[in-house]
Amino acid sequence: MDKLIYMDNSATTPVKKEVLETMLPYFSEKFGNPSSVYSLGSQSKVAVEESREKIAKAIGAKPKEIFFTAGGSEADNWAIKGIAYANKEKGNHIITSKIEHHGILHTCEYLEKQGFKVTYLDVDEYGVVDLEQLKDSINDETILISIMYANNEIGTIQPVEEIGQIAKEKGIYFHTDAVQAVGHIKIDVNKLNIDMLSMAAHKFYGPKGIGALYIRQGVKIDPLISGGGQERNRRAGTENVPGIVGMGKAIELAYKDIEEKNQKLIYLRERLIKGILDNIDHVRLNGHPTNRLPGNVNVCFEFIEGESLLLSLDMEGIAASSGSACTSGTLDPSHVLLAIGLPHEIAHGSLRLSLGDFNTEEEVDYVVEKLVDIVARLRAMSPLYEKVKEGK
Ligand SMILES: *Cc1c(COP(=O)(O)O)cnc(C)c1O
Repeated sequence: MDKLIYMDNSATTPVKKEVLETMLPYFSEKFGNPSSVYSLGSQSKVAVEESREKIAKAIGAKPKEIFFTAGGSEADNWAIKGIAYANKEKGNHIITSKIEHHGILHTCEYLEKQGFKVTYLDVDEYGVVDLEQLKDSINDETILISIMYANNEIGTIQPVEEIGQIAKEKGIYFHTDAVQAVGHIKIDVNKLNIDMLSMAAHKFYGPKGIGALYIRQGVKIDPLISGGGQERNRRAGTENVPGIVGMGKAIELAYKDIEEKNQKLIYLRERLIKGILDNIDHVRLNGHPTNRLPGNVNVCFEFIEGESLLLSLDMEGIAASSGSACTSGTLDPSHVLLAIGLPHEIAHGSLRLSLGDFNTEEEVDYVVEKLVDIVARLRAMSPLYEKVKEGK
C-alpha cells in the first residue's frame, strides 16, 4: 500500500476536517480574548461557553463543572495535586493502581516525596483492579481514589461504577483518568459517582494541547495554575480558544453514531486479533478478552523485541506502538505488562495496534499479512527461537 496505515490512535488521532474548519476563524478574524469587554472578546467568550456546554452534556455534567486544561496530563496533575493540597488536614493517603498513565503515577511519586502515602493497587492477569484490595486499602487518612477508566496500553476497562460506589459509601473523592474513554465509550459521571474526570481532545479527533478536568460541584480542590481569574478562578491563563472550540466540535462528532462506529471498530479489532492468533505462534493477547476499548489490540510476540518490530512495520508504512508512547524509545519494559504478570523478556516484545474511525478491513488484512512475514524474519535471527523450535 502506498498510503500510511495508521494504527496508533491511542497515541493521538488526526483532527477531523469539520473540527479544523470550526477552529480556523478563532485563529484569525475571531481572535479576541474572552476576558475583553468589547464584542470581539465576548464573541470568543460565547464560543468557549458553547464548547463547555457540549462537553458537559457528553458526560452528563453541568457546564460549570468543566474546566479547560492544556491536555490530559495537566488534568491528571491537577486532580491529584489539587485534592492532596486542599484536603491534607483531612488525610494524606491516596489510592491508585499500578497500571495508571505516567501522568498519574509520576504525580503520585512526587507527592510521596512531599510526605503523602500512596497505595498502588494490583491488577489481575487481564489488567482489572482488585476491588477487595481497594476496600482493604481504605483508611481514615484516605482522601482520594484515582483509577483510570480504560488503560491506554492494553485497553482494559475498569469496574468504574463499583469503584465509584465504594468511594461514595466511604465519603472519599473519586477521580478517573478517562483520556482513553471519553469520545469512545458512553459516560455518565452521576451514574458512575465520579467526582473528577480527565480528558484530552487529541484522543478523539480534536486538537492537541487542550483537555479538561470535570470537577463535581462542591469538591474541595486547589488550583494548579495561579494567575488571572479565568475558569472561575480555578485555572489561570488566557483560554486556548481555537482548541476549546475544536474540542467541543470533536466531542459532539465523537458521540454521534457512536454505537455504529464502535460496532465497526469491534469487528475490525476481532478480525485483527483472530488474524494474528491464527497465523502466528508463540503470541499472546494482552488485556481483557471482551471488556476492552473497541479499537485496542495488544499482543506479545515471544523471542522478538518490540522496537525491531516497530521499525520493520514502519518500513512497510504501518504506524503502531510498543508499550506506551512515553516508554517506547527506552529499554524499560512496560509497567502495565509487568503488572499483569508478564516476565520481562515477554513484556519487551509487545505491540499495540489501536484502530480508529479511518481504518478499513483491507488495512487490517494487510497488517496481518505483513506481521506474519516480519515476525518470521525477526525470529529467524533469534537463537532462542531456533532452540525452542528444535526442542519440539
Ligand atoms: C494520552 C493520555 C494521557 C495524556 O494526555 P495528554 O493530552 O497527552 O497530556 C493521560 N492518560 C491517558 C490514559 C492517556 O492515554
